Amino acid sequence: MTLTRADLAARDAADPLAGFRERFVVPDGVIYLDGNSLGALPKATAARVADVVEHEWGQDLIRSWTKNGWIELPRRIGDKIGRLIGAAPGQVVVADSTSINVFKLLAAALRLRPQRRVILSDNANFPTDLYMAQGLIALLDRGHELRRVAPDDVAAVIGPDVAVVMLTHVDYRSGRFHDMAAVTEAAHRAGALMLWDLAHSAGALPLALDACRADLAVGCGYKYLNGGPGAPAFLYVAARHQAQARQPLCGWLGHAAPFAFDLDYRPAAGIDSWLCGTPVVLGMAALEVGVDLLLEADMAAIRAKSMALTEGFLEAVEAWCPGVFELASPRDPAQRGSQVCLRHPDGYAIVQALIERGVIPDFRAPDILRFGMAPLYLRHAEMWDAAQILAEVMRSEAWREERFQRRAAVT
Ligand SMILES: *Cc1c(COP(=O)(O)O)cnc(C)c1O
Repeated sequence: MTLTRADLAARDAADPLAGFRERFVVPDGVIYLDGNSLGALPKATAARVADVVEHEWGQDLIRSWTKNGWIELPRRIGDKIGRLIGAAPGQVVVADSTSINVFKLLAAALRLRPQRRVILSDNANFPTDLYMAQGLIALLDRGHELRRVAPDDVAAVIGPDVAVVMLTHVDYRSGRFHDMAAVTEAAHRAGALMLWDLAHSAGALPLALDACRADLAVGCGYKYLNGGPGAPAFLYVAARHQAQARQPLCGWLGHAAPFAFDLDYRPAAGIDSWLCGTPVVLGMAALEVGVDLLLEADMAAIRAKSMALTEGFLEAVEAWCPGVFELASPRDPAQRGSQVCLRHPDGYAIVQALIERGVIPDFRAPDILRFGMAPLYLRHAEMWDAAQILAEVMRSEAWREERFQRRAAVT
């Protein structure tokens, strides 16, 4: 290990993002390495949510839909997220969960490519995306197929039978990411549409959906966007598809005139037609605070710090735990998202021992310890401290204690 803790502390002193730490609640004695599963709480969120509850709901009641702009929330926050992911206004909307948005967009993609029967994905994709595809295929009952290949093989196997390529940009387990521009181009060359899941990308690294000519995308509100547990998700539909693309969940708020109460569905123009039911106002109020914070930061600075954080942690782990773990992430920081994943057969127990010591990563079956580095609220020196605690847990074999072996419902 050539770096010292003093070097890392010096990086913190020079960190252009250092001021953001103060804007989050970070409990004393905790090094939080799970912002990719549930982002930390921005300090402004509690007051904002209290205001929405006490004034907008309590006092203004139903008038808030107009007076306090509740009805605008899905588009307003959608446009803000658009700025984080390289999407011009009018193409992103906040709605539902990521899983439901995958369903809506996949259904739309299959309708746009009626002669083609294949949804192509990779075998590293997050299961819910695959499950939603399987459910949609069963519902349609028209001979569609979900084809899964190795991540590296995707671009080469997009054939004339593929309607849509559905990939998670940053692999939730390894942190490895697909080349968005290259894979999108390969999909288009084969006449297929491209659907990106940005769950582990949005807010963590610069994205350029419009420039890559992505067709469709979804993403999470509660990970790097810091929108809070169960925050609503977002979806992106490129402007050039909006006139033709149709989603299957035609709820009243996606109607051209919801308050005309027509008995027949007529889709709204543009991105509004991708809404279904009433927006989750409290969840959106919290999400907007998280998104506004990210918009204050420079995404290039976030990416630079993210690479330095993951690299600092990994160098320390390699120095102090040689041969103990197998690296599940790319060794080159330029090829991984904002996380470092280590394999160990006793990964679950090791993660529990770390959590007891205030270092909070998470565990992903069967054997992955996942350390997510959210650049807005982590310090470089914490990478040193977390790696020290990990080394101590491994040296002492503290993880062997009986209580660390029992699996909780959520890992
Ligand atoms: C976290 C995550 C989801 C979560 O979907 P929900 O519907 O919010 O539960 C979906 N896809 C990926 C790739 C994820 O990492």
